[in-house]
Amino acid sequence: MIRRIGIAASLLIAMAWPAAGEGIAIVEDGEAKAVVIIPADAYPIAEYAAEELVTHIEKATGVALPIAPESDIPDEPANRVFIGTTANAAGAGIDVYALDQEAFAVGVTDDSLIIAGEDGPGDPLSEGHGASGTLWGVYDFLDRELGVRWLWPGELGTYAPQRDSLIVDPEEGVTSPRFQWQRLRHGMRGNDPRIGFTEEGEEAYREAQSVFLRRYRMSQRDRPRFGHIFGNWWARYGEDHPDWFQEVDGERGPRPGQREDRVAMCVSNPELHDKVFEDWKDRLEASDETPTMSLPEADSRGWCHCEQCKEWDPPQPTEEELDSMTPSMARTHHPRNTSDRYARFWKIMHERAEEVAPDVRTTAYVYFNYFVVPSEPMEFSANYHFDFVPWGGFWFPRPIQEQEWIKEQWMGWIETGASMSYRPNYFHDGYVMPHVFARQFADIFQFVIHNGAVATDFDSLKGQWATQGTTLYLLARLHTRPDATIDELLTEFYLAFGPAKDAVRAYFDYWEAHTSANVLDIEEVQSEYGASRLHSYARAAHAWFPPDSFERAQALLDKAHDAVEEQPDTEYAQRVDFLQVGLDHARKSAELAALFAEEDTPEEERVAAYEELVDFRREHEDLFFSNLNHASHVETRSWGQRDGFIGEGE
Ligand SMILES: [Zn+2]
Repeated sequence: MIRRIGIAASLLIAMAWPAAGEGIAIVEDGEAKAVVIIPADAYPIAEYAAEELVTHIEKATGVALPIAPESDIPDEPANRVFIGTTANAAGAGIDVYALDQEAFAVGVTDDSLIIAGEDGPGDPLSEGHGASGTLWGVYDFLDRELGVRWLWPGELGTYAPQRDSLIVDPEEGVTSPRFQWQRLRHGMRGNDPRIGFTEEGEEAYREAQSVFLRRYRMSQRDRPRFGHIFGNWWARYGEDHPDWFQEVDGERGPRPGQREDRVAMCVSNPELHDKVFEDWKDRLEASDETPTMSLPEADSRGWCHCEQCKEWDPPQPTEEELDSMTPSMARTHHPRNTSDRYARFWKIMHERAEEVAPDVRTTAYVYFNYFVVPSEPMEFSANYHFDFVPWGGFWFPRPIQEQEWIKEQWMGWIETGASMSYRPNYFHDGYVMPHVFARQFADIFQFVIHNGAVATDFDSLKGQWATQGTTLYLLARLHTRPDATIDELLTEFYLAFGPAKDAVRAYFDYWEAHTSANVLDIEEVQSEYGASRLHSYARAAHAWFPPDSFERAQALLDKAHDAVEEQPDTEYAQRVDFLQVGLDHARKSAELAALFAEEDTPEEERVAAYEELVDFRREHEDLFFSNLNHASHVETRSWGQRDGFIGEGE
């Protein structure tokens, strides 16, 4: 009999249900009432799931539950929590292999809780692990039954509301993953140990971040082949087949100054189609599975100006129409809007492959100047998979006109019938500053989730937890609670600050308002200092975040300190201190930026300020307040060639 809807009847025939409303005691009045059981031959990921369960329950209750293999179950404590593919789960009718990949089932009997999904070999922290169903079930349990919140990597960022008893009556059923894959890229490239993390600091951070990402069920189990496949084609084929490549001003190949690996293709050329098809067919013949027809352009705009390609293009906007757009919107038409030609190319290639392999999946990027919805109605199927990459300047915060226009492009592509994943680059932004855009980001992320997104891939998680905490919390949290309101999720974040919650809310609201208020002059400020949002934000950090902005923020954070003054040794107080470290670090970094921006600053003054900043980083790096790899990367790109730079340089 099924107590509640959700689990298929065939999965549950063997279970004997308690009366509704009773619960299973896991911990009662500070005593362990349950033992955690893992399969006799548990995979590492099932053991890890059990450890994560026990660790978090201990954090919430102070009670460490015993873990035992199913082959050796102790009599006491009397209740059981079965984790993974135990015989007991199978006996209860849960067939994990009949579930969707990475789905999990929760079942309850009178003295047992069962959390089971498909497990498999490999490192539990690897996003390529695939079979992670049980672990996802444990995290869902910790979220719903204990109210555990992961604010940032590490112990201090883990909030488990305190309680003496844990008596649970969870909803039974099967939960399948919301997305086919979900990914926050690690964002760990480019450390310079002289100015960023120490080696040990980097290792500890990397590990903590991996743990954190898995707690948000990051997984790439079902991601088809992607990547800028034409990147090396000019080097390989340019000499013999120049006509496969872009024609600009009558010349085939790279434009003056263009990198060879960024040469776009002449996608209307039937000879190119033949070559792409033959390459794919070779892989098909060598493989047991149908290979993806992978068509992402070199990391480039569609540049080809040949007559044939232009004939495939939609009508181009008039000057007047371009003037009505924001600069970023206009850039999606530069040098031409090429969406129709690329859509046609993808369709030609897919249909050709489909004749040989009906289940073929075709991948491409909706990107640069092939981002606007095609002008001719196009029909694709779910076997076309497009990564949606708004690019060319749509940084957050952005004008409302852009936000709404991007949503229109999303809907237009969704209406073609293709599978769409959301793959923005905008988390490269902000350096180490309190550059906060939580609400506007969440607005569009929820929009795409609620309108057909099948996957996510964010490039990249840059980890400025102590200054950009709310934005990063929504980024992670919307992956597991996509239907919650933004206010609900922000409230979760603030609750982890206990009595300081209102003051911390006011603090982040202040920074978000400050960031948004500057949205219109940011391009101007960046160009004044020659700064790029992608690589060298630090050059303009002091201009966007001047000294008085830090003074106002400090006054707000002082109220948070006051609110926890009576309980200085609690996690609440430590979390406020964590925000203080982030604020001090941002202020010192902005002061350094000002010294680099001022041409006449004596070199020794820059060096002294830089050394002080690095000392500060050394002192606090083990808090994980900042991904200092990112700090060092941005600073190297900003000041690597300047007097006073103390890193290794480029
Ligand atoms: Zn062409």
